[in-house]
Amino acid sequence: MGPVASCTPSVHGRYAREWQMERAFQTALWLLQPEVVFILGDIFDEGKWSSSQAWANDVKRFQRMFRHPQDVQLKVVAGNHDIGFHYQMDRYKIQRFEDVFAPERLFSWKGINFVMVNSVALEGDGCSICSEAEAELIEISNTLNCSRELVPPSSQCAARQPLPASAPVLLQHYPLYRRSDANCVGEDAASPKDKNIPFKEKYDVLSQEASRKLLWWLQPRLVLSGHTHSGCEVTHAGGVLEVSVPSLSWRNRNNPSFIMGSISSSDYSLAKCYLPLEDTVLLTYCGASALLLLLILAHCKLITLPCLSGRSLLGKYKAV
Ligand SMILES: [Zn+2]
Repeated sequence: MGPVASCTPSVHGRYAREWQMERAFQTALWLLQPEVVFILGDIFDEGKWSSSQAWANDVKRFQRMFRHPQDVQLKVVAGNHDIGFHYQMDRYKIQRFEDVFAPERLFSWKGINFVMVNSVALEGDGCSICSEAEAELIEISNTLNCSRELVPPSSQCAARQPLPASAPVLLQHYPLYRRSDANCVGEDAASPKDKNIPFKEKYDVLSQEASRKLLWWLQPRLVLSGHTHSGCEVTHAGGVLEVSVPSLSWRNRNNPSFIMGSISSSDYSLAKCYLPLEDTVLLTYCGASALLLLLILAHCKLITLPCLSGRSLLGKYKAV
């Protein structure tokens, strides 16, 4: 999604984007009445280095913009702008993110399993945060295997939290490895100029190794990811569909969007919902403001509008 805070110097631009995201979110909540909303990271722009005071202010603005009824669940995965890229990430930044969003790695809802991955911690360099993240995913993998009876029943399975027997939906910030966006199509795919630029592993997309591990450990039926700001659908080994969800903010796209999903334990259907174009909204507001200004000036007799003078002429003839 688009960041709540921005390093762009234009304060006006920031307010316009935050207004746009708030209106988009609140309208979608009212119109579509979702049960669960997932945000795939990069809520903040400066979470990677902001002071605790700036962080608290950003969190407050996020909570105001993305307010929701208590029966709607809002789940958030961490992005590199929230906790930093791998080498900027530390326990303090992860902790302050988790204190606000309390992300569950494994979340089951109405027979559907969702696994929310901290993909920034999948660098694979053996750092302590990465090792813990991998150990946690292996643990989830074992629990899922027990539920799907992929392993013979054992006392180990009996001790685990029982889960619905359904392949999980994987939610993460970085996309799984793909060479580039060259094969992506659709009106919000990367521009022809950017499509063929090779992706950098562990920066634009996960490494090949981390991607293989996630697919092998979790055997998902659907992957949803963010980070690239452009739309793309990729089919991975075994026919697993990954949808790269573009940004919700005008900061990153003129045509932001979100995905609406209807998911059961054995099937899913997805639809992309486009938000109003920034150009269209700005033109509409500018046009309406200019018209209003002209009408005020004409009312105060500071200018004469040809259409109004024509009407008064007609009025005169009628009176005669
Ligand atoms: Zn990102």
